[in-house]
Amino acid sequence: MGEYFAGVDVGGTATRVSIFDYGSMRIKVTAPTGKKGQNTALPEQVLGMIDYACHAISIPPDDIANVGISTCSPFRRNKDYRVVISPNLCDGLVLGKENAQNDWTEIPLEEYVSKRFRVEMGNDCVTAVVAEHMFGAGKGCDNLVYVTWSTGIGGGAYVDGHLLGGKNGNAPHLGHMYIAEDGPVCGCGNYGDLEALTSGTAIAREYRREQEFHNQGDGRDYSETCAEDAFREYDTNCMARSIINRAARNFARGLASINALLDTRRFIIGGSVFMKNRALLLPLVIEEFYQSFPALSGGVEIVPSALDQYLGDIAALSLVIPEDWVQDWEAREPWKLASESIPWKRG
Ligand SMILES: [Zn+2]
Repeated sequence: MGEYFAGVDVGGTATRVSIFDYGSMRIKVTAPTGKKGQNTALPEQVLGMIDYACHAISIPPDDIANVGISTCSPFRRNKDYRVVISPNLCDGLVLGKENAQNDWTEIPLEEYVSKRFRVEMGNDCVTAVVAEHMFGAGKGCDNLVYVTWSTGIGGGAYVDGHLLGGKNGNAPHLGHMYIAEDGPVCGCGNYGDLEALTSGTAIAREYRREQEFHNQGDGRDYSETCAEDAFREYDTNCMARSIINRAARNFARGLASINALLDTRRFIIGGSVFMKNRALLLPLVIEEFYQSFPALSGGVEIVPSALDQYLGDIAALSLVIPEDWVQDWEAREPWKLASESIPWKRG
C-alpha cells in the first residue's frame, strides 16, 4: 500500500478531490456537485473523481491509503455509517422546494465510499477546526471554536483538546441555535436562529426587502440584491449599515452563547461573508462580544481564519494526514504550491 491520501470536499455547488503524498498535493479535480438521479449518484461521482485524479497522475487507486471527506451536513447515524441529510443536497428534505433536482432524503456517502477505501468523514466546519488546529490560527490551542460566516453559519470545536462530535457527529451546529423569540425563517425551518439572523443569505434578504419598501415605484429591480451590495453601501446607506450592524451584534451574541457552553479560549472566524469584510466586521463583533458577561468573555480571543482560501483543500486532508507528517507540512505549507484544479471528465 502506497503513501497516498485523498481529500474530498463536498460543497453545495462544487465538489473537489485532491490527492497528496508526503511531498506535495499532486492534483486537484473539481466538478459541480451531482444532484440528479439516484441518491448514490454523488457517492459514485466521488469515486469516479478519485479514479480520474489517480489516473491523471498515473497511480493505481488501490495506493490510496485513506480518504478524508469534508461535506455539508447534518448527518444521521444509520447502523455503522452516517448518512448525509443536508437540505443543500437533498431536495426531498425541503417541502415544496422550487426547482427541486432530486427527491433524496439521505445520501449514503460514507458507506458507499467505504466499499473501496478507508474513510474519515466530518462536516465542513468540523474539518475546518481540525485544519486550523493543525496548520492555522488554532495551533497549540486546545480550547478552540471555528465559526464560518458565509451563505450559512456553522461551527466546529475542541474542548480540552478533544474534538467535539456528538451522537451523529453534528456538534456544534451553531447556526441553528435560537437567538430571537421570533424572527425570519431559516432554511432548516427554525424561526429566529443564528443563521436566519446573520448569514449572507439573511443579510441579502433583509437588504432586498428594505430597498423594495423604501424605493417603491422607482422602476428598479432589486431581486438580485446580494449581501455584498449591502457591504459595499455600508458607508453611504443607513439601511445597509443598520442591517449589517444588527447581523454583527447577533453573530457576537451567538459567540457569547457558545462560549457560555464551552468556555473556549479562541474563536476563529472564517467564511466568505466574514473574510471579505473582516476589516468592518471584526471590530463590530469584538465590541458586542465583550459586552457579554465579563467573567466569561474576558480573555477570549477572536481572530480571522489563517487558512482562508486554502481551507477547502486542507480541511478534508487534515482528517487523514499521518501524524508524523504534520510538523514538516506545517513548515513547508505545500498546499500553497499546489497547481490549479482541473475539471473532472466523467469516464
Ligand atoms: Zn436554522
